[in-house]
Amino acid sequence: MLVKLAILAISVIILVVLIKNSLKAKPKAIDATDMARDPVCNTYISMDGVFKLKYNNKLYHFCSKECMNKFREEKLKEVNSEDIS
Ligand SMILES: [Zn+2]
Repeated sequence: MLVKLAILAISVIILVVLIKNSLKAKPKAIDATDMARDPVCNTYISMDGVFKLKYNNKLYHFCSKECMNKFREEKLKEVNSEDIS
């Protein structure tokens, strides 16, 4: 009977440790997805408070207004050259 209780106690402890580890791992995953890459200067930036631009149903993130304008200008050039050819 005591052995059974000991096994039960150990398995409960293992379970608690596993749950704790999975809870610890979760915020890390969220942090990774919170980061966005600036397509102009390749800088990784936090998703909150960054400059955003929607182009071709895709959302792009920029570190600064300058990068956003540069990207928009380049995309406009691409569209224009496609129209000419
Ligand atoms: Zn940038």
